[in-house]
Amino acid sequence: MTESLILKVAINVPLTRIFDYLPAEDCVVRPRPGCRVRVPFGRRNQIGLIIDTAATSDLPHAELRRAITVLDAEPLFDANDLWLVRFVSDYYQHPIGEVVAAALPALLRQGKPLLPLQAALSLTEEGAATDAGQVAKRAPRQAALLHALQENTAVPFGTLDQKLPGWRTQRKPLLDKGWVRLEQVVDIANDRPQLSEPRPGPTLNPEQREALAALTGQTGFRTTLLDGVTGSGKTEVYMRVMQEVLGAGRQVLILVPEIGLTSQFVARLKERIGITPMLLHSGLSDSERLLAWRSARSGSAPLILGTRSAVFVPLKSPGLIVVDEEHDASFKQTEGLRYSARDVAIVRGKHLDIPVILGSATPSLECLRRAEEGAYQHLTLTARAGGAVPPLMRLIDLHKHPLEDGLSAPLLTAIGDHIQRGHQALLFINRRGFAPTLICAECRRMAECSRCDSRMTVHRSSNKLSCHHCGASRPLDARCHECGGSCVPLGQGTERIEDALRARFPGQTITRIDSDSTRLKGTMDKAFAMAMSGEAKILVGTQMLSKGHHFPKLTLVGVINADQGLFSTDFRGSERLAQSLIQVAGRAGREKQQGEVFIQTAFADHPFWKELFAGGYHQVARFALAEREACAWPPYSRLALLRAASHKREHTWAFLHAAAASANATQLNGVRILGPVSAPMERKAGRYRGQLLLQSRDRRVLHQLLDILRRDLEGHVAGRRVRWSIDVDPIELF
Ligand code: ADP
Ligand code: ZN
Repeated sequence: MTESLILKVAINVPLTRIFDYLPAEDCVVRPRPGCRVRVPFGRRNQIGLIIDTAATSDLPHAELRRAITVLDAEPLFDANDLWLVRFVSDYYQHPIGEVVAAALPALLRQGKPLLPLQAALSLTEEGAATDAGQVAKRAPRQAALLHALQENTAVPFGTLDQKLPGWRTQRKPLLDKGWVRLEQVVDIANDRPQLSEPRPGPTLNPEQREALAALTGQTGFRTTLLDGVTGSGKTEVYMRVMQEVLGAGRQVLILVPEIGLTSQFVARLKERIGITPMLLHSGLSDSERLLAWRSARSGSAPLILGTRSAVFVPLKSPGLIVVDEEHDASFKQTEGLRYSARDVAIVRGKHLDIPVILGSATPSLECLRRAEEGAYQHLTLTARAGGAVPPLMRLIDLHKHPLEDGLSAPLLTAIGDHIQRGHQALLFINRRGFAPTLICAECRRMAECSRCDSRMTVHRSSNKLSCHHCGASRPLDARCHECGGSCVPLGQGTERIEDALRARFPGQTITRIDSDSTRLKGTMDKAFAMAMSGEAKILVGTQMLSKGHHFPKLTLVGVINADQGLFSTDFRGSERLAQSLIQVAGRAGREKQQGEVFIQTAFADHPFWKELFAGGYHQVARFALAEREACAWPPYSRLALLRAASHKREHTWAFLHAAAASANATQLNGVRILGPVSAPMERKAGRYRGQLLLQSRDRRVLHQLLDILRRDLEGHVAGRRVRWSIDVDPIELF
């Protein structure tokens, strides 16, 4: 080892730099890129990841500190993983140490070993020489333990717990006799995938066959958009492609937008492919996460199913990445490292030279455009598989049919009809809580959050007002603070719709599914199980319920209020609204019975409805794309959003003006600098928020500008008084 070996270390701190260290003096383990290393940092120690090694440093030798110890004998990340970390850090303008942190399970971030040691028991020579048959006559339970240890050298406690419940009481007597000893072994139990007998799938219809043919036999990188109406058998197609890849001994990574969708997917994969996928999502305990991460990395998990952050998991022999419901906003992280898992999946697939499949019934305009340009292979499935027909969609004009507790007469009648026939109804409303706000019946004042420019939501179950933006909550006001008038809830939320349905359909099982009702561990799986089995006759919920699920008995979908989306200020408004309506409509009538969808609106003349009813999602998408092209919005341009927030409005503005000046000073051609402006909801959690939008048709120029801007801002005094962030490819402009 030479003195001139320099370790380039990423440390989990909000600084863009990589830090240089000298190797530890008495280094037993060779420091290699991809290994964790404990280093002195300021006055404390930190765990970092060696990103690279080099012969030189920009710092004088005397200023370099020595690493304390290397934590991994084998790199956790290989060269491809390290490439990805760097790419994501550069592209999303985010500190590399924080990118590494996002890619590592918590236990590894904390410095725990990749392969934890577990207590185990093994036979001593004396124990091995003991005749268990003889022992069995006097002490059968001791004999059973001796017997259980006979085959292996050391058996972990966990394995003994499974094999021989109650063995622990026999441990001491055997230790005392000197027949067994305690050991520490590497815990690799549960590292093998669970296999079962796969069941053959349905015969594919011609469209599916064509799609499958276009997807099979390819090994190199290619992005395919599998654009198929809800229930068209996209999943069936993915599964066949997966089988081919798995058969070739390579791993498949599947990304889904929400945890709620994993259990259904797991069941299908298990049934059809015969492999229980390794799960990676935020609902796991730290040790479960580590286990899953490790088996993806070691290659022992052939099939990995996860949510957003699973896109970073190391893979021993990657063969395919599938992004299901590609259009879903959940793939974009909206705080901290603001990455899009879909986009990272594509970049990763390209780097690894493996295919990437994006599936959706309502593809994002970004992907539709890429497909149109020929950058992605575009495959379509136009009909529902297995003979199911598309649902009938109906608009209910609220001027003709007034609401009672949020429900119109035609919708109520339809609910009654459908459940009478033994089917199931789903009511979709994108607001949790009892009512969006509380209003004074006298002076019409509404309950507002004291820390945000927003109203507080009424929660009946907890008798509270709560702010969905900052989390503040307070008891429900009985009387208006201004005039003493009495207060009443205004509008509908999921709780109120649930109450109204209980009153109208007594004796029917009604299940509400939203983030409040599924907060406790296990409640979500239970609620979905009731929905799947048909035990719940009426389902009420937010978008949690509208995505990707297959409820066999569901034939009616009611959209309580679609109008919010019609007047959205966001340029993605119509795309979002069409996606959520088509997705929720897609839950209806997925099997033999035709489904019906009722959409309540007070704006039945709005042109959006004409587009949607005449040509479905793709018609809305065509109009929206034309609009975006005319205004040079994405996908016809790239955006980056600089956000700032502080308790003093003037600090926010001083920072944003400095940022605008710095952006202008770059004099780069082809970037529009829009703003600064205040955020649509200016005050949130007591902070004044503002933003600067950067727009360009040329991604490279935009990134050039961001590189300069970020460096300027990191050194700027105004930056110390605000919280600021850069969002590349933002999906929300506030
Ligand atoms: P998607 O992923 O497009 O929503 P799925 O793959 O979940 O569609 O298929 C919807 C339903 O149709 C599932 O119950 C599936 O088993 C069934 N299905 C898919 N393909 C066929 C087929 N070719 N023949 C009969 N049933 C099919
Ligand atoms: Zn608030």
